[in-house]
Amino acid sequence: METGWASDTVLPHYRVAIAGSGFAGLGMAIELKRSGIEDFIVLERAPALGGTWRENHYPGCGCDVPTPLYSYSFAPNPYWSRLYARSEEIRTYLEDCADRFDVRSHLRLDAEVTGAHWDEENARWTILVGGDPALTAGFVVGGFGALNRPEYPDIPGLEDFRGPLYHTAQWDHSVPLAGRRVGVIGTGASSIQVIPQLAKQAEQVTVFQRTPPWVVPKLDRRISRFEQRLYARVPLTQKLLRGLIFTITEGVGVAITRYPWMLKLGEAWGRWHMRRAIRDPELQRQLTPNYRLGCKRILPSNDFYPALARKDVKLETDGIARVEGNRVITRTGTEHELDLLVCGTGFAIEEVFSHLDLRGRGGISLTEAWKKGIEAHRGTTVAGFPNAALLSGPNTGTGSTSQVYMIEAQIHYVLELLRTLEEHRAGTIEVTERAQADYNAWLQQRMQRTVWLTGGCKSWYLSDDGVNRTLYPGPSSEFWRSLRRVKLDEYELGPVRKPEPDRIEVAA
Ligand SMILES: Cc1cc2nc3c(=O)[nH]c(=O)nc-3n(C[C@H](O)[C@H](O)[C@H](O)COP(=O)(O)OP(=O)(O)OC[C@H]3O[C@@H](n4cnc5c(N)ncnc54)[C@H](O)[C@@H]3O)c2cc1C
Repeated sequence: METGWASDTVLPHYRVAIAGSGFAGLGMAIELKRSGIEDFIVLERAPALGGTWRENHYPGCGCDVPTPLYSYSFAPNPYWSRLYARSEEIRTYLEDCADRFDVRSHLRLDAEVTGAHWDEENARWTILVGGDPALTAGFVVGGFGALNRPEYPDIPGLEDFRGPLYHTAQWDHSVPLAGRRVGVIGTGASSIQVIPQLAKQAEQVTVFQRTPPWVVPKLDRRISRFEQRLYARVPLTQKLLRGLIFTITEGVGVAITRYPWMLKLGEAWGRWHMRRAIRDPELQRQLTPNYRLGCKRILPSNDFYPALARKDVKLETDGIARVEGNRVITRTGTEHELDLLVCGTGFAIEEVFSHLDLRGRGGISLTEAWKKGIEAHRGTTVAGFPNAALLSGPNTGTGSTSQVYMIEAQIHYVLELLRTLEEHRAGTIEVTERAQADYNAWLQQRMQRTVWLTGGCKSWYLSDDGVNRTLYPGPSSEFWRSLRRVKLDEYELGPVRKPEPDRIEVAA
């Protein structure tokens, strides 16, 4: 294979290379270590670990799945300060996990993976960091994440807005809020967390809403010292709490994916929640979704509606036509003068892979392999890309429960793939095209019943061609079960090409 770099370059070799150090990459590293595998490296493009929880620190940022479930099953934290922890606390938890499981020495920060090329002759991957070949690995795991490329809306004049303009995921804490007129574009998961915080400080907040979200009460509360001590001394009690939260979120998952009519109950709850805070009938109308609950992410919040009921918070639903100077002008001609503009407009999911130079067997690029649409086998392996796995890959998202649960299921599957290689003394393991196609045909057929396709909304879950390539169309426990074992008839094993060279220690 033509690699384009000097043939006498000696690159350090690892048994496993992981890209990314969010919940996925870090969890993979910890589980490798816990299974006795020490020969691995974690490459992280940022100067610190933490993924989502390093990037997102806007006021009010936190998880919307209770933290006893939104955390690693193997690393319970009895000391969460509240049921829905804030961003900083989750980030600290991830940092603590890196120390507690002693994986920090495997971590290379400021190391952006720009590509990976399959080397057929040696049955291993050459990994490019910052554009250059930096190491080789017997197996690669992509923990690139899906929600970390901020997407700005396509609005004429937006980039010339006269004043600070940023995305919720790029919050600039140096910009003062007091006395400012702030505009927020979007009413998704991040916006509904930040708007109430802005309302407390800014002179005026204008919320530009395209589609109203379904918002339900957030059963949040502080966790008392007594409870923390109980969880620390009797871990079973926290496990029971985790189990209870899991059962509830799984129930919602079953309704979303199989019995959308059941979601009417949740809709009644959401409407009741809104009417308790909003008295104005016109505002109520503007805030009532016209699609089924669950079609877009269900958002728990106790302070979003009260914030919108304030006199200094305006809801604008006319749609933005353009931005001129410091004015946002709607399609009906209303002008809003603003000092600061915040975009809570989500992430460019498909961009995650499009700029990566990933080349599998025969030099095929991942973009080429995915020209008909992004798909993987069980969300994890891709035909033509041996000895490789994706975490948080296609159709592994969940509309109701903890993403960390899905990630852990995948991590277990990767360990099974590695175990299969060892048990069969094989050099390569690669999913067959047939298995991948059958799985995805089944998955998309299953998808037809879900509220994401039947609920009457257009969400970021769907690609431009209307296909849901992001979420798993079933209960998360089913996904977990399907990843417990590697089915050998879905894979092809190849011989060991060359004995792996001893690892050469060089500073990366
Ligand atoms: C504001 C916000 C709130 C959320 N709340 C919840 C919630 O309550 N519940 C829930 O289930 N999910 C939630 N999510 C989804 C969340 O992203 C996942 O739960 C989870 O954190 C994903 O972990 P990850 O490791 O797959 O991805 P990430 O956390 O995005 O981590 C990916 C890591 O890979 C690094 N990386 C990317 N590309 C490269 C590269 N080329 N080379 C090297 N490193 C690279 C990134 O810098 C990052 O550190 C939320 C997301 C956001 C944005």
